[in-house]
Amino acid sequence: QMRAFDYQADSLAGKIILVTGAGDGIGKVAALTYAKCGATVLLLGKTQSKLEAVYDEIENLGLAEPAILPLDLEKASFAQMQELANLIEKEFGHLDGVLHNAAILGALTPLEMYDPITFEQVMRVNSTAVFMLTQSLLPLLKAAQSGSVVFTTSTVGHDLRPFWGAYALSKQSVEGMTTIFTQETQKLTALRFNCINPGATRTNMRAHAFPGEDPNTLKTPEDIMAVYVYLMTDGASGVKGQVVDCQPK
Ligand code: NDP
Repeated sequence: QMRAFDYQADSLAGKIILVTGAGDGIGKVAALTYAKCGATVLLLGKTQSKLEAVYDEIENLGLAEPAILPLDLEKASFAQMQELANLIEKEFGHLDGVLHNAAILGALTPLEMYDPITFEQVMRVNSTAVFMLTQSLLPLLKAAQSGSVVFTTSTVGHDLRPFWGAYALSKQSVEGMTTIFTQETQKLTALRFNCINPGATRTNMRAHAFPGEDPNTLKTPEDIMAVYVYLMTDGASGVKGQVVDCQPK
């Protein structure tokens, strides 16, 4: 079903979709792809200049005008996230989708030696901030006709492995969040929570984790966009609580 899905210029027409980590890697390509499918994208990320470059690219293509939301998910308070939700409320009244894509790798090291400060940073960006942002945006997502929350996991989020430390634990918690949010909202037919596992993809994070690997052997973010678009479409309104593995095109 997923493989057969082919997105079009109107697949996400009129939808308002927030993407975290929209300045680089998979998040950048997802934001551009959503815009090409007709969505108004809200570009959330840490480095403003990267978000501006994505903004310009979307503008130059003559697509729906995006918005830039600079926010450091490691430092941002819950109050700041609620403020952000209020801003979106005022501007758009609702939110059709959120792609929680931003994450950091932290250290690849045994837990015995894992720096507790790094541990907290990774858990904050990859898990705690994901929870806080989701909770803040929930009223806006409930106000949508068909709201879609998409989390991002990794294979090590369910096949725990030595040395993957806080990264693996943070992704395991994100998979748990997908399940619990799904259970707690099961009566709401117009809201769904799912999780994407992109699999090995050519980005800075992957190069950092596997420095000896030839990036040209990996699929690109563009190759996996069918799943990213599909989960945001109304056609996926019955898909709930899933961890979806990406298959390259
Ligand atoms: P990249 O490192 O290329 O991009 C990560 C993005 O997250 C960047 O735009 C970065 O912004 C943003 N980000 C990081 N920290 C913060 C922060 N504190 N506040 C706001 N934004 C932040 O990673 P990928 O594109 O490879 O990864 C995307 C997602 O896919 C992640 O969740 C990752 O765990 C997951 N994944 C990736 C795989 C792969 O092979 N690439 C495999 C499995 C899972 P900035 O550039 O400004 O720092």
